[in-house]
Amino acid sequence: MAGLEPARLDWRPDAAGESAPHSTAFDDVYFSRHDGRAETEHVFLAANRLPERFRAWTEARPFVVGETGFGTGLNMLCTWACFDAQAPAGARLHLVSTERYPLAHDDLARALAAWPDLADRAAALLAQWPEPVAGVHRLWLDTRVTLDLHFGDTEERLRRLDGRVDAWLLDGFAPARNPEMWRPELFQAMAARSRPGATFATFTCAGVVKRGLKAAGFAWRKVPGFGRKREMLAGEIAAPPADERRRATPWFTPPAPRPARRVAVIGAGIAGAATAAALARRGLEVTLLDRQGPGAGASGNAQGALYVKLAAETNLQSRAYLAGLLFSRRWLQHLDPERRLWSPCGVLQLATDEREARRQARFLANHPLPETLVRPVTAEAASRLAGLTLAHGGLDYPLAGWVRPDALCRRLAETEGVRLRLGEVCGLAPAGDGWRLEVADETGTQGLDVDQVVIAAATGAADLAPADALPLQAVRGQVSRLALPEGAPAPARVVCAGGYVMPPLDGTLTFGASFVPHERDAEVREADHRANLAELERTLPGYAAALAERGADLAPSRLAGRAAVRAASPDKTPYAGPVPDAEAWRRDYAALAKDATRVPAIPGRHHPGLWINAAHGSRGLASAPLCAELLASRICDEPLPLELPLVDHLHPGRRLIRDLIRGGG
Ligand code: SAM
Repeated sequence: MAGLEPARLDWRPDAAGESAPHSTAFDDVYFSRHDGRAETEHVFLAANRLPERFRAWTEARPFVVGETGFGTGLNMLCTWACFDAQAPAGARLHLVSTERYPLAHDDLARALAAWPDLADRAAALLAQWPEPVAGVHRLWLDTRVTLDLHFGDTEERLRRLDGRVDAWLLDGFAPARNPEMWRPELFQAMAARSRPGATFATFTCAGVVKRGLKAAGFAWRKVPGFGRKREMLAGEIAAPPADERRRATPWFTPPAPRPARRVAVIGAGIAGAATAAALARRGLEVTLLDRQGPGAGASGNAQGALYVKLAAETNLQSRAYLAGLLFSRRWLQHLDPERRLWSPCGVLQLATDEREARRQARFLANHPLPETLVRPVTAEAASRLAGLTLAHGGLDYPLAGWVRPDALCRRLAETEGVRLRLGEVCGLAPAGDGWRLEVADETGTQGLDVDQVVIAAATGAADLAPADALPLQAVRGQVSRLALPEGAPAPARVVCAGGYVMPPLDGTLTFGASFVPHERDAEVREADHRANLAELERTLPGYAAALAERGADLAPSRLAGRAAVRAASPDKTPYAGPVPDAEAWRRDYAALAKDATRVPAIPGRHHPGLWINAAHGSRGLASAPLCAELLASRICDEPLPLELPLVDHLHPGRRLIRDLIRGGG
C-alpha cells in the first residue's frame, strides 16, 4: 500500500454561475458545466438501462456497477438514488469505483454541496471518505448499498479486482487529455471483470475507445450524447473471457458460489462474531455457536489495542494488516459512532533501541503513507501526544487506538438475524447439500442442519475435522490490570514497545501482553505479571515507580489480569477463505514436490460450503473484521473487499502448497 497523489483542481463557474471543480492536472471538468446531474442520468444511467434493470433485480447477489474514475462521486450517488427509487425491497447494490487521484475531503464536500437533494447520500460518503492510500476501501452507504473504492490506477486496480461487474460507467476525463488511462489494457481488464451480458456506457466516441472496446470483446453502438455532444457510446459484452489470473496458482481458484440461507458460525470471538454480523447484514439466517458465549476466549479482554506492527519492507502480510487496520477503523465508526466500544486515541510505537529506530526509518522509506495514518515523532512530540514524559520517539498512528473486545463481541452477537446458541460443537459432517453439526450442551447433544459453515474457533478449529489439516499454534497471552490511584498520570495514547500500555478505562490501567507460544493454559500467572511489569518499565521507564508513589499496588501477586489462548498460523497470517480438501490437494498437486514449476491445471478442491476465519494471533482487532467481510462477500457472490493478491495471501491452503513444494506434505 502506498500513498497517492491528491487531485489537483480549481473552481470555475459553471453555466449557472456556480463554482464547479475543474482538474488543473488534466485541464478538464469533473462533470458537465451545463447540468452535471442530467448528464450523469443520460450518459451513464439511462444508456446502461439501469432504471429498468434495477426494477427487475430479484437475485440474491447484489447488482454490481463498476466505474472508472470516482471523482466527486456524483455518478455513484446518482446510481444509488436511482436504485432506491427503482429496486424492489430486498435487492442489493454493490458499487465498485477506481480513483487514482482522490479528492481531498473538503473539496469533495464542496463539490457535492451543489446537489442538495443528494445531501444525505453525500454525508454518508463524506463520513467514511478513506485516507489516500492505494488499495480497496469498503464503505457502507446504507443497509443494502456498498461502495468499494479502489484507489490507484484504473487498469491496475481492475486487474486486481476479485469480483465481476454488471454495468460499467466508463468515465475518466476525455481520452485526448488522459491517454494514459484509456489504454487497450483497460478494456481487456474491464472485459475480464464483466459478467456475461454486462453493459457499458461512456460520454466519448473517441476512436481509441471504440477500437479498445471491440478488441476486448464489447459490442458498441453510437447513441445520442448529452447536451452539445452529438454522440456517445453504449454496448455490452455477451461472453466475457474466463479469469486466467490463477493459472499459476490454480489451488487458489475460488469454489463456485452455492446457495446459502442458513449458516452456522462456530466461535463467538471477534472473528466469529464479526463474520456472523457480516452474513446477517446480507439477510442470511446465522446461528453463532460458542461453548461459553461471545468474547469468552482471547477476544474477552475488557480492552485491547487496535494496531498493527508493519514489516519494514512492503510485503503481502503488511499490506493485508494495513488494509485490515483501515477497515476496522471505518467498521467501528460505522458500528458505534458514539464510540462506546472503542477509542481512536492513536498508538505510539516507540523505538526503544537503535535497531528498532533503523527498522522504523526503513519502514517510512518503503511506505510512502499519508501522515494522517503514520508519521515519525521525536521523544518530545511523542511525550506531548502521550501526556507522559517518554524517553524515546518512534512512529505515531493517529488513526489507531483501542477497543473493548468483550463488549464488541456481545454487540455483534446481538445483530438482527444472528441467533446465539451456547454449546460445544462436537461433530461436523457433510449432510445432503449442506452440513450437520452436533451441538452438545447441558440438555444433551442435538443436530443442527445448515447450508454453510464458518469455523472461527481459534485453537478449537484445529480439532474440528475437516479443518484439522490446517496448522495452528496455540499462543498463551496474559494482560495485567491495575486500579489507578486518584489523579495518577496515565497515557493518553496506546504506547507500545515490546508490549503495550493503554489509556485507562474505568480507572483501570491495562498493560501486557505476555506471548507464550505452544501453551494452552489460561490460568492467570504471577510470572506473566512479572514479565508484563518488566515490559512496562522498558516502555515507560519510571512510570511504575511514579504510580507506586501515589499508592498503587504493583506487587505481581496482587495485580489483576486475564489470560487466554490465541491461535496463530505458522506464517502469522490469518486463515480466511474456503477450507481446502487437504487429501485431494496432496494428490492433485503431488507433482509439485518433484518440480515446483510444473503446476497441474487443476482448480483447488474445497469442502463445499465450509469456510474458516481464524489464526488472528494477537492482532485480531485489526484483521478479523476485514476477513469476516471477505468471507461474507465470497459466500454471497459479491466483489471482494481486498485485492486478489491479498485474498490469495490469506487463503487457508497456502501452507499445504508450501509444504508440498518443500517435500513435507
Ligand atoms: N465520475 C466522476 C464523478 O461522478 O464525479 C467524474 C470523473 S472525472 C471526469 C475523472 C476521474 O478519473 C478523476 O477523478 C480522475 O482523477 C480519475 N482518473 C484519471 N485517470 C485515472 C486513472 N488512470 N486511474 C484512475 N482514475 C483516474
